[in-house]
Amino acid sequence: MLLKAGVDISRLNKPIRQALGPLESIYLSGGKELIVTSTYEGTHMASSLHYQNDAIDVRWIAGNVLNLVDKIQSRLGKDFDVVEEGDHLHIEYDPKP
Ligand SMILES: [Zn+2]
Repeated sequence: MLLKAGVDISRLNKPIRQALGPLESIYLSGGKELIVTSTYEGTHMASSLHYQNDAIDVRWIAGNVLNLVDKIQSRLGKDFDVVEEGDHLHIEYDPKP
């Protein structure tokens, strides 16, 4: 797993931190390195879970994006949201009641 310069994963809350392992294995199985591009730093909507340390952005694998999103979503489960946002995937821990 690689971190973009300036990205700090140490403050991430446990659920999203525990998602990094499965995420990395999905990426590696596609022959790609997992690159975390943002956690709490960077610019996000004020209400963003990035500022609660419950969200990360990762570079996405070029090609077959929907398949990747589905794969990640089913691995992480319904308490996580996986959103394709152009050049990255936004992944947040947002447990549903
Ligand atoms: Zn994001």
